Amino acid sequence: MGYAEFHRRSLEDRDAFWAEQAKLIDWETPPQQICDNSNPPFTRWFVGGRTNLCHNAVDRHLGARGEQPALIYVSSETNEERVYSYRELHSEVQRFAAVLKSQGVGKGDRVLIYMPMIAEAAFAMLACARIGAVHAVVFGGFASVSLASRIDDATPKVVVSADAGSRGGKVVPYKPLLDEALRLSNHKPGSVLLVDRKLAPMEMTAGRDHDYATLADRHQRTTVECEWLESTDISYTLYTSGTTGKPKGVQRDVGGYAVALTASMKHIFLGNAGETYFSTSDIGWVVGHSYIIYGPLLAGMATIMYEGLPTRPDAGVWWSLVEKYKVTSMFSAPTAVRVLKKQDPAFLKKYDLSSLRALFLAGEPLDEPTAKWIAESLGRPIIDNYWQTESGWPILTVANGVEKKASKFGSPGVPMYGYDVKLVHESTGEELKGPDQKGVVVIEGPTPPGFMQTVWRDDARYVNTYWSSIPGRQVYSTFDWGIRDQDGYYYILGRTDDVINVAGHRLGTREIEESISSHPNIAEVAVVGVADQLKGQVAVAFAVVKDTSGLTDEAAKLKLEGEVMKVVDEQLGAVARPARVRFVTVLPKTRSGKLLRRAIQAVCEGRDPGDLTTIEDPTALQQIKDLVATR
Ligand code: AMP
Repeated sequence: MGYAEFHRRSLEDRDAFWAEQAKLIDWETPPQQICDNSNPPFTRWFVGGRTNLCHNAVDRHLGARGEQPALIYVSSETNEERVYSYRELHSEVQRFAAVLKSQGVGKGDRVLIYMPMIAEAAFAMLACARIGAVHAVVFGGFASVSLASRIDDATPKVVVSADAGSRGGKVVPYKPLLDEALRLSNHKPGSVLLVDRKLAPMEMTAGRDHDYATLADRHQRTTVECEWLESTDISYTLYTSGTTGKPKGVQRDVGGYAVALTASMKHIFLGNAGETYFSTSDIGWVVGHSYIIYGPLLAGMATIMYEGLPTRPDAGVWWSLVEKYKVTSMFSAPTAVRVLKKQDPAFLKKYDLSSLRALFLAGEPLDEPTAKWIAESLGRPIIDNYWQTESGWPILTVANGVEKKASKFGSPGVPMYGYDVKLVHESTGEELKGPDQKGVVVIEGPTPPGFMQTVWRDDARYVNTYWSSIPGRQVYSTFDWGIRDQDGYYYILGRTDDVINVAGHRLGTREIEESISSHPNIAEVAVVGVADQLKGQVAVAFAVVKDTSGLTDEAAKLKLEGEVMKVVDEQLGAVARPARVRFVTVLPKTRSGKLLRRAIQAVCEGRDPGDLTTIEDPTALQQIKDLVATR
């Protein structure tokens, strides 16, 4: 079957199509109804079916490949390398599940995981899935304030963390950040499990903090069976940034996610049982959930979990892993490729990469020079794929597992099966059917399996944020601009909202602004994303200072800039730190007081700021222009 027909069937013959895909996983009770869309936009998949993600990712493979590698853990930070077979993974996960149970965790309870890239993070996630607990993984690069708001939203019974991570050979302590977050949060979890890597000292709070290894020792041989869950039960929440300062908990189901990922491994990622998958992402992001942990394991593959930089000990480290473990599919982000592009290309030629079928890239726009460079250097297909935390798996790409289709530079590809993607006019809501017309990329419901169910504990926010932004129609907005060519390939042209994308990490400018405003000498601030050659975008802040008496020279300004950056580092984490903080006397706003972020961004990128008839004070933009000119 050609891909066009495959895609058509997925929409027009939806139930039959997905009933077939559902056979790719094990069910304790098969689904009674495939798609229930009686209460849009809350689509329910495989209703009545009972299954378990951990069973499908681990236990299911014990018979055929118990002794084959499942998790390959590599840290170039601590020089650890360990291969866990499916059988060993099964034991580790049961041990973790037993410890969670001993702390009172049961079905539906939340477990917040704030971990560096260590194998225990994978055990913890799979253990939650095993017992029906809901995991909420928070990216280890976030600091106390970000973490505290997520603790308050998820209200976890248990937090799982570690003494420290490591980056570029530098120890990054986690425990003090966690302690500060727990001091700031209103919700206090009953217990904190800590994996001690012996990288940094930990101050333990008696009665609350427990050494994981000590508890695990008591459960060397404990068996913990998989809890059979309803397909529509919650598997996890994952926080993502939007236009408000408060992060949204993207909530996912069990059965739909298991089917969607397993199908995507076959149709999109070309992964077969017994082969090796290597995704360079982090478990704190959606790619880490879907394609470091669940996807490859669901497919019976070995998955590489890598802690460290792509350039340490040298820029060949990833390729050496491809050679050593005969990686067949690799998944990374354009920023990482841009980093490698600056290094000696000889590193790419040093290793035997013949096992590699394709390199998949996602998370941010893939620019043509980067795509061309890596395609030529690797001599393998480079497959761009566009998706979001919300979707859980690709929305646009090419499904080479169904039919070989050429990629086009600059385009992630065509709509994936299950996705009814459209372009609509921003203000009229009219569908743009012709080629080369710019519109908002939207998805017509019902959303496919694996797609978010709702915003955790906030159905109204799900509807109001995602499904109500296009006038006159209830469609899901991606908040991305796009165009489609005559062959049906889409091109993504950037966000319609105030979300920025720094090195593939999604950040809300509002969150950064709130953090900067907490500095005692900042009256007001605007943060915008500015194009950057390496990171795609970087955050740049323009701030109005309360007391300017000390800001007499450049040195004083640089000092305040450093202080503001430190506030962001401490509250949100270095990942959110603006590249520059510049000082102005007034910010460009409309007469009704709305910040003109897009005009600021245009000026920073040397573009025309567009229509400024509504601007309150035209000198405001001139100040920014002057600053940008002086760099
Ligand atoms: P996240 O939820 O962090 O994965 O961020 C999703 C956003 O990243 C999307 O809405 C896009 O703005 C951007 N994005 C992700 N993948 C791509 C891609 N392949 N091409 C262009 N933009 C992308």
